[in-house]
Amino acid sequence: MKSISILIIEDEASIRDMIQFALVPDGFTIIEAGDVTTANQKIANHIPDLILLDWMLPGTSGIEFAKQLKRDPNTKNIPIIILTARAEEDNKIKGFEIGADDYITKPFSPRELSVRIKAVLRRGPLISPEDIIQVKNLRLNISTHQLTINDDPILLTPIEYKLLYFFVTHQERVYSREQLLDYVWGKVNYIDERTVDVQIRRLRNRLKPHGYNCCIRTIRGSGYQFTTNGLL
Ligand code: CA
Repeated sequence: MKSISILIIEDEASIRDMIQFALVPDGFTIIEAGDVTTANQKIANHIPDLILLDWMLPGTSGIEFAKQLKRDPNTKNIPIIILTARAEEDNKIKGFEIGADDYITKPFSPRELSVRIKAVLRRGPLISPEDIIQVKNLRLNISTHQLTINDDPILLTPIEYKLLYFFVTHQERVYSREQLLDYVWGKVNYIDERTVDVQIRRLRNRLKPHGYNCCIRTIRGSGYQFTTNGLL
């Protein structure tokens, strides 16, 4: 399974060390930056799965940088957790206004940090104000149910849409046929589990012209998993 990468933007090395120490045992890959310039270089190199952003940074402040990230289409969907020494309610509100996903006041325990990160990541991909879930170049509009990959529209049947929606909102986890029937089709007892295989095959065929069929993996003996790990 792909390791989740977390970019820490914090000017105090001792806090970066503490965070690294807290998160590495959970299997996260940690990328560090002491200021915004370094953070930009690291992001250009690799888009992280989540950003821990200190409020008070030398040069560009954390809040300014968060605004920049939310304006850039390449980075606007990265969840941001703001770290701050200030406990004022005012800052918390400002943080959420610019689109931060959570807010942690220093000092915090390693365990609290880890729990909060997992909670933010569990929410799945952020849905933009235009109601679009974006996974690489795949864009699924949850109000019109339209799918495009590389801006190419792809027609889906209602059940294919439901299946794809379930997968993109539950990435990386493996689901059995029985679980998929429950979650996607609803609690129905007259549908055979082979229906799942049939629909997955059809959905893969839809995604195939753009190579996204490889995102739906068959896990032998377990079921299916959606992952962007194999995408170029
Ligand atoms: Ca600081």
